[in-house]
Amino acid sequence: MRYEEPVFRPPCEAGSLIIQATIGCPHNKCAFCGMYKMKKYRVRPLEEIHQDIQMARRAWGEPETVFLADGNTIAMRTDDLVQVLDYVREAFPDVRRISCYGGARFIKGRKVEDLRRLKEHGLSIVYMGLESGDDVILERVNKGATADDYVRAAEKLRAAGIELSTYVLAGLGGRERTREHALGSAATLNRMKPDYIRIRTLVFLPGFPMYDDVQSGRFVECTGREIAEETRLAGEPGRRRRAIPQRPRLQLPSDLRQAAPGQRQDAWRHRRGAGAPRQPHARPPRDHFALEPAKCTNGAWHRRCVSSAFRSRGIRSRWASWG
Ligand code: SF4
Repeated sequence: MRYEEPVFRPPCEAGSLIIQATIGCPHNKCAFCGMYKMKKYRVRPLEEIHQDIQMARRAWGEPETVFLADGNTIAMRTDDLVQVLDYVREAFPDVRRISCYGGARFIKGRKVEDLRRLKEHGLSIVYMGLESGDDVILERVNKGATADDYVRAAEKLRAAGIELSTYVLAGLGGRERTREHALGSAATLNRMKPDYIRIRTLVFLPGFPMYDDVQSGRFVECTGREIAEETRLAGEPGRRRRAIPQRPRLQLPSDLRQAAPGQRQDAWRHRRGAGAPRQPHARPPRDHFALEPAKCTNGAWHRRCVSSAFRSRGIRSRWASWG
């Protein structure tokens, strides 16, 4: 396979074979996105894509899932995309899922019959960045689509039987529009009815168009707590179509419930058998760790301590690298 880097994919496509059907993003103007700024959008020649799929067949064997990169492969002509889907299914007859990124701007104008053809030829899911359901924010970040466009695009995908996974960018409204961002996104998601909703947190890196706004103070970033509050507000029951039933609260045992709040700890110790020696923490088997584990101040041997100890020494623990 030949890749024009950098190559991006949704986290849930980590195990997928990635085939670059297009290079870059045909919109490429979103102010918070620097993914494809170094690339000029083009559709790769079908022959080249076919060769890549054949190479992948020899190198990979049978992948279960295939992701068609780059940023907006849904923008390809329907006939071409159908051809690519056929190449994939011909090379990998047992493939379980074929997916790609797709912006509302490139879906809302398409005929449902075209989308249905894509579904029939194997396109199972489209990943779409809503980012925000608030039109003011969408315009500020040059998203090129309104909340209504997203709803229309989602309706078309649903009518065609293609699954939709959509992303919201927490913090995109900044401190100024955090409330509008939360409520507008919840309202738009309720209208879109996607199959999956994923929340990502906004991060700025030098070179991103909005980075200068942050540096100059034109855009005031939310703190972590404000982002948590924004996410809570968006998911609050009453703003959903159906409220999630409240989980039962943890019930304290009756003897602890009856103890005065200040005496609950004593009651708890009494319950455990006051003065009973604490069970020592078992030390994990040696081969459980990449290196000698560190001991926590409370005498326990546990992963977090080890992991952070490794990290503080600049060594990646095995489980850190799994993450
Ligand atoms: S449409 Fe997606 S890939 Fe293209 S610039 Fe916007 S966020 Fe980036």
